[in-house]
Amino acid sequence: MGENTVISVKGLRKIFGVMKHALDGVDLEVTRGSIVGLIGANGSGKSTLLRHIVGLYLPDSGTVTTLGRSAADLTPAELSRIGYVHQEGELLEWMTVEQLLRYVAAYYPTWNYELEKKYCTKFCIIPDVRVGTLSPGQRQMVAVLLAVAFEPELLILDEPAAAMDPLARREFLNLLLELIQSPNRTIVISSHILTDIEKVVDQVVILNYGRVLRNVSLDDLREEFTQVHLTSLSGPLPERLPFENVVESQRNGSSAVLTLRGQTPEKIVAMAEQIGAAAELQSLPLEELYRIVVEKAK
Ligand code: ADP
Ligand code: MG
Repeated sequence: MGENTVISVKGLRKIFGVMKHALDGVDLEVTRGSIVGLIGANGSGKSTLLRHIVGLYLPDSGTVTTLGRSAADLTPAELSRIGYVHQEGELLEWMTVEQLLRYVAAYYPTWNYELEKKYCTKFCIIPDVRVGTLSPGQRQMVAVLLAVAFEPELLILDEPAAAMDPLARREFLNLLLELIQSPNRTIVISSHILTDIEKVVDQVVILNYGRVLRNVSLDDLREEFTQVHLTSLSGPLPERLPFENVVESQRNGSSAVLTLRGQTPEKIVAMAEQIGAAAELQSLPLEELYRIVVEKAK
């Protein structure tokens, strides 16, 4: 474990009930300054993994080390450096937003009042409203504010924006992009909204049935797959196309759309030339990359 390791998960297993392997041998290293997107189907273990990282759940086997200490034994010193937004968004219902902010701020000498003010204006958070009367999206905004305003080194966000409306989500993403500017900050965010994830993360961890299916930089994942649109320059395309590692294909007569794995653009263009076709290359959005990776794993 290097000195830049913020989270280190080794052989983590968590079993609920008799047979339910929520996490089935997870290994994961997160280094300082990275922004990790944790993605996977419902029930794949995202929340369970994040809860282990902040010490809410204890491993059945394996180890979880957060900020250099076993996550089960985090002391106030480490906890005050971790911001966590949990999926359920439970808050203290009877307080007003202002009371809740003052209550939580009191725990943190590092509370950034300027950030709080800016954020409240941006997200139209009204201070004298009771927390219990907020809509799910508004609650999430308050939960995010509580987790970021003390400027934690490590920010753990479990589907933080799922209930927000599109405009609020955009503001939230801008906020994340702003927070990322600080070089020592590490963010792990789970989300179903992959169009959001791909705007902010630099590393993608795909969980599938409690296992890490892929742990890859977003750039590498984008380079791994290429979609090519082929258009024959004269007549139909040949029956057999010479491309290797075709993941998906669709064709009709003189044109075809292929998704290829692990092929350089130069090679693709050269092969298209061989069969007398024009080639237009595209990288795929994370949603498509995710779908392909998960489908190939079946
Ligand atoms: P995700 O966040 O990826 O949707 P979870 O981590 O919440 O998935 O859940 C993974 C699996 O573990 C699910 O099958 C879920 O039902 C189960 N699980 C999670 N927490 C508990 C719990 N406290 N008690 C029993 N089963 C749980
Ligand atoms: Mg979850």
